[in-house]
Amino acid sequence: MRKRYSVIIVPPENEKTPRQIEFTITGKKILLAAAALFLFAVSLLSVANIIQAAYIKEAQQKIAYNDALEKEIAAKKLEIERLNEMTALINADLQAIAAYETEINSVLDVETPTSGAPELSRGSSDRQEAPVAASLDEAAVHVASYTRSMKEIYSASLAFNETLRHLPTVYPVKNGVLSSGYGYRSNPFGGRTSEFHDGVDYSCPYGSPVYAAAAGTVVFSSYEGGFGYKVSIDHGNGIVTYYAHNSRNLVQPGDIVDKGELIAYSGNSGRSTGPHLHFGASVNGASVNPLSFYD
Ligand SMILES: [Zn+2]
Repeated sequence: MRKRYSVIIVPPENEKTPRQIEFTITGKKILLAAAALFLFAVSLLSVANIIQAAYIKEAQQKIAYNDALEKEIAAKKLEIERLNEMTALINADLQAIAAYETEINSVLDVETPTSGAPELSRGSSDRQEAPVAASLDEAAVHVASYTRSMKEIYSASLAFNETLRHLPTVYPVKNGVLSSGYGYRSNPFGGRTSEFHDGVDYSCPYGSPVYAAAAGTVVFSSYEGGFGYKVSIDHGNGIVTYYAHNSRNLVQPGDIVDKGELIAYSGNSGRSTGPHLHFGASVNGASVNPLSFYD
């Protein structure tokens, strides 16, 4: 059933007669339309709110992310400063190592190892100059290079030690007094003749311990004419030492003796004017002053 409705527009102060607009829509439809319009408006507002909230949330997340990034950048800056300080410290150490390397090489008479040494940015191929690492990566390469270098120095020091072990540097008697030097001297048995004294004499009490001047192999241990009881030791590199006029020899040919090892007791055997040790040496078969090794 259709009803007629009127909307009456009343002008102010009764200037004109009121106007009446009539329409024929049902009341139910008006209500529905108004409700629909209202709901539509409300839902529009809700959607706008949701979108706005999403934007705000996103913006807040971006701000938080930026804050975190700034903190991270600050921390990284500190880290970079620390790494730079470390690089400076390592450079100082590298220079100290380079200085020691030069000193050690000159002491051991080692050629500066360059085999396999990496090419680096500044003056490292020539070890005369201390290396400078521009970065920790480079410092690591320098350190690796020095590790190889230290290995070679260690090998050289072992060889040096071995050479030293076989050089006569230990005095054969501890309580002896040098009583006759090396070379020509007047005949100790009298007369006007002179003789070549092939060694040095240490006056010492009968039975004093006699020690090997260096490591080596015993090549003679027996009685030999004027020398009496005599021990000869081959130290390698052509060097031989011998110890004569002993009262008793304690080693046999073929024995390997260490530097400073007890090899005999001193005495007065052979052509001797009193208890003493005769200490002689030769290099490649030629007589030398044994004390020349001790200088
Ligand atoms: Zn002598």
